[in-house]
Amino acid sequence: MRRRAEVPPTAGLPPRLRDLLPGAGAPLDARAAAWLGVDAALVACSGTAALVIALRALRRTSARRTVVVPAYTCPLVPLAVAHCGLEVRLCDLAPGGFDLDPAALADACRTDTLAVVPTHLGGRVADVDAALAAARRVGAFVVEDAAQALGARAGGASVGLRGDAGFFSLAVGKGLTLYEGGLLVARDAAMRRALAGEAARLPRRFGWELRRSLELLGYHALYRPRVLRYAYGMPLRRALRRGDAIAAVGDALGPHIPLHRVGAWRQGVGARAIARLPAFLDAAAERAAARRARLAALPGVRVLDDAGRGAGTWPFLMLLMPDARARDAALARLWGAGLGVSQLFIHALPDYPRLAGIVPAQAVPNARDLAARMLTVSNSPWLDEPGFARICAELEAALRP
Ligand SMILES: *Cc1c(COP(=O)(O)O)cnc(C)c1O
Repeated sequence: MRRRAEVPPTAGLPPRLRDLLPGAGAPLDARAAAWLGVDAALVACSGTAALVIALRALRRTSARRTVVVPAYTCPLVPLAVAHCGLEVRLCDLAPGGFDLDPAALADACRTDTLAVVPTHLGGRVADVDAALAAARRVGAFVVEDAAQALGARAGGASVGLRGDAGFFSLAVGKGLTLYEGGLLVARDAAMRRALAGEAARLPRRFGWELRRSLELLGYHALYRPRVLRYAYGMPLRRALRRGDAIAAVGDALGPHIPLHRVGAWRQGVGARAIARLPAFLDAAAERAAARRARLAALPGVRVLDDAGRGAGTWPFLMLLMPDARARDAALARLWGAGLGVSQLFIHALPDYPRLAGIVPAQAVPNARDLAARMLTVSNSPWLDEPGFARICAELEAALRP
């Protein structure tokens, strides 16, 4: 039985028509900075572009050419590193989690390391202090990947401000969206100047801005429970029927990274929407707390949390199933069901054919284990109680040997 409403895999901030009106008052960068608690923030044309800007700025200060990234993360991250003429070094994850494994991290940080990229995966607060300690031992920088964690807080401050720089994604599916966009922050004023200088080199691209503006209008038209099945559900189910998991989660992106400034109209749309984001994130956290407890009560299931480091955001819940068989059985029952159950990234980075030549073929057993055992349950407000109850029942069935 498929329901009429399609649940998106992440809790996107529902758009409002009046977001599209011109004249939003304070600009997006100022509103974002005020909310995040930093003197200034930079708007970029994607999270990937924000990372490129940060790496380019760091590259100017140093002859070091290697960037340490988690072995399980967004495939755009190693593409951004390679785009900057830098080399990717993988760091395996700690067993059963998303943080960098301490021993692997110590080994990966060497005298050629320019930066380490700890990642606040799925809104969870990562162990940035451990990354900072390992990076500082060899004189490297830390860039926090908070692409999925806009609004997450730790130690009384936004994530992204503990390392030397941090970035957030404003892409579709990551909460607040300009269709594609990003935010770049840094605690230190000199670093902020360096980042702003790098961002100022990017051109305006009328063609890209027009395309993104039309895509953002399309998003406003289609991001509705009864319409989303045409824009998201049907292409997803087509990809699943073909057996193309990478296309099903939208990991199948080309090697080209657009780099340009974001136009005033799209920034205005974001500036209006960001005013609603704090309350939306609070409601999402409340919903997640109740559902987390129910999912964690399933036999052998773990829900990844913040390990006491702070208060993350909850775009979805990351579930670790006891083994790959149970995970695959759960996905077979739920992925195409319109209930917002999905996978995050399909593979550990060495297992994407498209990244061969960029990512070293390296044994990363814990990252592979996470890729094989994890699934995500949407925390969208459109996932109602009957839908969530059905997810729990299907998971229970999948857990039976
Ligand atoms: C999405 C994502 C990125 C890239 O952000 P875009 O805005 O899509 O370019 C980087 N890192 C992680 C962990 C992500 O999820």
